[in-house]
Amino acid sequence: MKSAFQSGLCVLALAGGLLGPHPFAQATAPPESSAPEPVSGSAADRPLDQATLARAAALRDQALAGTGAYAIVEELTTQIGPRMAGTPADARAVDWAVARFKALGYDRVWTEPVTFPVWERGVEVARVIRPYPQSFAIAALGGSVGTPEEGITAQVVAFDSYQDLLEGEREQVQGKIVYIGNRMRRARDGSGYGEAVIARGRGASRAAALGAQALLIRSIGTAAGSRTPHTGMLSYDIAFRRIPGAALSQADADLLEHMLAGGEPVEIQLHLGAGERGDYTGHNVIAQIDGREDSERFVLIGAHLDSWDLGTGALDDGAGLAITMTAGKMIADLPRQQRPRHGLRVVAWAAEEIGLHGARQYAQAHADAVDNHLIGTESDFGSGRIWRFDSNVPDAALPLMAQVHQVLAPLGIERGHNQAFGGPDIGPMRQLGMPVAGLIQDGSRYFDYHHTVNDTLDKVDAGDLDQNVAAYVAFSYLVAEHGLPGHRALATPSQAGEDEAGQPSGSGD
Ligand SMILES: [Zn+2]
Repeated sequence: MKSAFQSGLCVLALAGGLLGPHPFAQATAPPESSAPEPVSGSAADRPLDQATLARAAALRDQALAGTGAYAIVEELTTQIGPRMAGTPADARAVDWAVARFKALGYDRVWTEPVTFPVWERGVEVARVIRPYPQSFAIAALGGSVGTPEEGITAQVVAFDSYQDLLEGEREQVQGKIVYIGNRMRRARDGSGYGEAVIARGRGASRAAALGAQALLIRSIGTAAGSRTPHTGMLSYDIAFRRIPGAALSQADADLLEHMLAGGEPVEIQLHLGAGERGDYTGHNVIAQIDGREDSERFVLIGAHLDSWDLGTGALDDGAGLAITMTAGKMIADLPRQQRPRHGLRVVAWAAEEIGLHGARQYAQAHADAVDNHLIGTESDFGSGRIWRFDSNVPDAALPLMAQVHQVLAPLGIERGHNQAFGGPDIGPMRQLGMPVAGLIQDGSRYFDYHHTVNDTLDKVDAGDLDQNVAAYVAFSYLVAEHGLPGHRALATPSQAGEDEAGQPSGSGD
């Protein structure tokens, strides 16, 4: 499915409308058929026995007592730091992930190539020319084109929201710089993001459609008064001219609005050096643990390896990597006969922020092996504690999900709905039919730091990470032990020899 707005755009994919259902809008959807149903008699639908549930609970409690997850995000942010897709740090991060997975004891570790256009930020300057000359703190939006060498100097026309811009008139906008001032709402489930981020995702093309020269937005973030701008992808509609886009910090958006309130025309000069710089081939890093009976089918978890260039990518998504790598390590550490029946795969996804390239190319490469993926989920929401468990599984698997929830409930996790999104990098496989789950984190403070220079290790709490690991390891263990009732792979014998596209082990390419 290719629309004019075709790229997935990091968390922009979460914005809703761009890639299908709006994940966070679902957060408040009423639970749908989440109540346990009577278990049918077939073997595939047999409930987990008490001993299995107890083993999962023991893994959960072991994680709560302390894991090495914090040390992993500390290592990644200290030794690699920002790892923008297509940079030398991206390649170092791939080497780091391969070595780290191996050191954690995974059975097989390999890389698969992912090719994408490289985007560079370049200079970013916004100065008010009149009536009150001074400078604004801005960040170019990912994917933005640059301005001409001499910059763009134009009057600002302001809109309160993207919806207001949709009602804008060409005479009002032609030749100007469009400013969209919507403020993101803080919410535990992150639902304010989807409402606000459309200004970033679609604002530039909508402004261009009315003849604007450039787009400025209020940063999509929740730290009121911060002078730190938030980056993130925009998406160009191929029907319109590509105009440059940048985000003002919250404080500078306030400042601009004060100037506009005076009623005099406000003229800004904008210089952006941003642009695409050819193609690069990076890598998804894939690590697998075989089941005690099955090395073919597996539970899929993971997080994205790349980050934006501004912070050190501790919350987005070093935390997710640390959580999922550590959950896998706990299963790898089990004696072979105590491992779950099926396997576990952990993917460190490439180039998520700049367009979900790793996830899209994985889905292409593994389209014939969807049935080997019992269920998938991604940790990509910082390090806040998990408070809700969502699923998106066939009805036949709902009793199993209820049993999984029993083990998660002591972690303070409630049972959510059965329309889970699964995470941005899970989307392409979900669209091919892979069942998904959502271990939903508390995102109350996530968007204070998201996509900014302040996304650094000090925002990560080791105890919170351990709670996340506890949920991931219990979830992974139980579904890998049971399989997924109703999954096509269990209805029809899986294609023997339908092996993965990956080369075994360690080729760094
Ligand atoms: Zn992310």
